[in-house]
Amino acid sequence: MSRATSATIHTDALRQNLQLIRRRAPSSRVMAVVKADGYGHGLERVARALQGADAFGVAALSDAERLRAAGLSQRIVLLSGPDEPDDLALLRRLQVDAVIHHASQLQLLDVDPGGAPIRVWLKLDTGMHRLGFPAVDAAQVHARLRALPGVADDIVLMTHFACSDEFSGSATHAQMRCFDDAVRGLPGEHSLSNSAGVLGWPEAHRHWVRPGGALYGLSAVEGQTGLDLGLVPAMTLSTRLISVKDVEAGASIGYGGAFVAPAAMRIGIAAIGYGDGYPRHAGSGCPILVGNTIARTVGRVSMDLMAIDLSTAPEAGVGSPVIAWGRGLPIETVAAKADTLGYELACGITRRVRFIED
Ligand SMILES: *Cc1c(COP(=O)(O)O)cnc(C)c1O
Repeated sequence: MSRATSATIHTDALRQNLQLIRRRAPSSRVMAVVKADGYGHGLERVARALQGADAFGVAALSDAERLRAAGLSQRIVLLSGPDEPDDLALLRRLQVDAVIHHASQLQLLDVDPGGAPIRVWLKLDTGMHRLGFPAVDAAQVHARLRALPGVADDIVLMTHFACSDEFSGSATHAQMRCFDDAVRGLPGEHSLSNSAGVLGWPEAHRHWVRPGGALYGLSAVEGQTGLDLGLVPAMTLSTRLISVKDVEAGASIGYGGAFVAPAAMRIGIAAIGYGDGYPRHAGSGCPILVGNTIARTVGRVSMDLMAIDLSTAPEAGVGSPVIAWGRGLPIETVAAKADTLGYELACGITRRVRFIED
């Protein structure tokens, strides 16, 4: 029998989350961000489920190639744009839009041998200081792009928020003001919002929203789960118990003897570990579902296995289903224990995990 560890991808949840985003931003078109293999959910699978989106956002041209090979004809946007001369031909062949965020890319376009015009999203840095031209240079860069024969005329103006997950912070207001000042008088559609922008900043919706995490039911908002935000989890990571044993008080469990049983207890061993993408850093005491009951992990997570205190699930035995996160247990609960976001956990599922679509 193959290993029980599997990631079930709920394609209906992807569609539901897209609908919720459309209800929240009813006047905007939606670029579904599917970078990092669809946030770990599987690129082609996610894109097929989200065919109702107006465009897909990817971080690599190879992802755009995969989407085209899968027969997807939607608009695709390469979020970091071209970085070598050959990329321009590939953008044209695949009919992919390019984000242009740096002067080095203008140089690529200057020596562009030409061809069908490439659709460009001009990215401005309005305060995150990651990608983007200085906002004050917007008009100048825009004019330079407009003058290039290899660039299509309808340039989209975009920026990215650093702190939109803080729904009451002033940083997002400042970034919006900076963007609006920079693009005043320039023609073109606007795109500002990631998931948190969609959920928390209606005035930032504009022509195009760019949700990623929210499509997968993931929350970027501290202290709130995807469910709290009205989203449905699109991944359930599950496995089974492959051993159950009763230990005496004082018995140490797992590597390093990191957990010592304070009393006689029943321990279940689940077939999942950091080799599957379960965070070792979550440590002892992380919630996990055994059957329908919340239990706690004990001791160190190992590569293939981890130990669970079965005192809340006395009826559990070998073969009992275990859910690490997803339906019944928000991924954010585990992420909080591991000092990270559900985003990182979803992206970190490893290749040996079996993917199931439902
Ligand atoms: C990743 C990304 C997004 C999506 O962000 P989420 O927080 O996952 O919604 C949007 N825009 C850009 C430019 C990105 O890189």
